[in-house]
Amino acid sequence: MINAILLKAQEYGIRTFEFVEYCTSKYCACHGVEVERRMKGAVSCPGGLHGDLNGALNILRKAANKTVPAIKKSLSFIVDHNRVTPKEGCNP
Ligand SMILES: [Zn+2]
Repeated sequence: MINAILLKAQEYGIRTFEFVEYCTSKYCACHGVEVERRMKGAVSCPGGLHGDLNGALNILRKAANKTVPAIKKSLSFIVDHNRVTPKEGCNP
């Protein structure tokens, strides 16, 4: 699986490297405080990050020494027959 990802990334000119993800979700990527994973994957920080996004941001910071200055709220859409419409009340 890793080799397949590496080859596909290389095909598109994306640099890759392996990184151990151990403990990458233990601290909030935005505030640096220790967090716990709650229901539906959210972490316990008031910022309300999803645990997977928190882990990915921590990996980005640790592995590439890059931080994301602001987290935008995700957009939600409803996929219906032959169209995609914004989900009411979920998008700015
Ligand atoms: Zn936080």
